[in-house]
Amino acid sequence: MGPVARAKIQEAFINDEVPIICATIAFGMGIDKSNVRWVIHYNLPKNIENYYQEIGRAGRDGLKSDTILFYTFADVMLHRKFLEESGQREIKEAKLERIQQYADALICRRKILLNYFGENLQENCGNCDVCKNPPESFDGTTLAQKVLSAISRLREKVGMRMLIDVLRGSARKDLLEKGYDQIKTYGVGRDMSVFDWQQALYQMLNLGLIEIAYEAGNVLRLTEGSKEVLFQKRKVALVRFADMRKHAEKRKQKAKPKSKAEVFAEGLFETLRRFRQQLASEEGIAPYLVFTDATLAQMVSKLPTNEQNMREILGVGERKWLQYGNAFIDEILTYIETQDQQKGSYLPTGGTYLVSYQLYRKGMDIADIAEARSLHPHTIYSHLAQLYTLGHHNINLLQYIHNEEINRISKAIQHIGFHSNAKPIFDYLNGEIEYYKIRLYIAYTRDVYLKAT
Ligand SMILES: [Zn+2]
Repeated sequence: MGPVARAKIQEAFINDEVPIICATIAFGMGIDKSNVRWVIHYNLPKNIENYYQEIGRAGRDGLKSDTILFYTFADVMLHRKFLEESGQREIKEAKLERIQQYADALICRRKILLNYFGENLQENCGNCDVCKNPPESFDGTTLAQKVLSAISRLREKVGMRMLIDVLRGSARKDLLEKGYDQIKTYGVGRDMSVFDWQQALYQMLNLGLIEIAYEAGNVLRLTEGSKEVLFQKRKVALVRFADMRKHAEKRKQKAKPKSKAEVFAEGLFETLRRFRQQLASEEGIAPYLVFTDATLAQMVSKLPTNEQNMREILGVGERKWLQYGNAFIDEILTYIETQDQQKGSYLPTGGTYLVSYQLYRKGMDIADIAEARSLHPHTIYSHLAQLYTLGHHNINLLQYIHNEEINRISKAIQHIGFHSNAKPIFDYLNGEIEYYKIRLYIAYTRDVYLKAT
């Protein structure tokens, strides 16, 4: 790509207009983006330092992020080839071996990474592929013997692919031409798939039972360890091969339908994200400068709908509150209202108050709100009273009570003391003032009385 097109795409990625970017590592080095949710390597990085830095691009905002590493031995071979022409070859080779061990590891990967950087982690992380799908070992001695015997009979002249074909009894033309079908171990491994054989060979490589002669066309060679297995009855423990596939199948089965609460939360997050995008593009700034994903996620879980609650959200400081606070409250309330209008809808705890609040904010009177919501007007009054005590002090509760009634309730409280329950006052006033009005007044004065006592 030319530099202009490239810069354009990078910009679009940073601004959340392009969701996925596929690039060489050189491309991503300058990207400063807090809400990267995935980093996927399509081949093996050349050392753990690079790898760690690259996966560190995900989840800078502290939210859950994933990383996946795909690799094959072809990657190792390619790196080896580059190493031959570079300086400090030994160090680089050692580092390449470490990352290869990491990729093949059968113990917690987080442990390996942190230990590599001198941070001693004792506990398993419980979150990596190994922790989630602990490997199960079996006696692979016979299997290893078959492999080693075949390599020996093939005079250490073949690579991994040909060895597997010999073991599986392939009728490949070049195999037959070389007479490999004549050796004793030809076809002894028909019962195992190519994939499983590869897994077995990788494990044997890591155990030092075989090695790859990179300098001689990547052929497989025997080692001291091989001889122990072949002649000194050394036992070989291998890990079940099909685990990866089983794991993938398990994951497929596990994917259960999302709960209504999850659908609600995801929808709201998406709504806020789009709104953020719109604000950012109007102002010509990156979306994370409006709010980060972490801040949006908090808004989704806490549903702030007044100044006090909004300012309690991490990432909403004085300036952000003044600049964006009310606009985001509008978005949240509008979203809740639209959810309420849908059939079989889900509302979170307290959501029904917020729907009434939203209609109140639109200037509707109580009778209309009650009708729109198919609720009794008294229910709407109690919603407003509740909202007021939750900090929505912009609701004018006193407009629903006559001045003369306010005086009577106030005097009653002076006489019998403050109760957060309306009944004692209702009784004291001989039932002459309706319950809902007493409740509204109590909500309105609650803080004053509670502070006074
Ligand atoms: Zn782990």
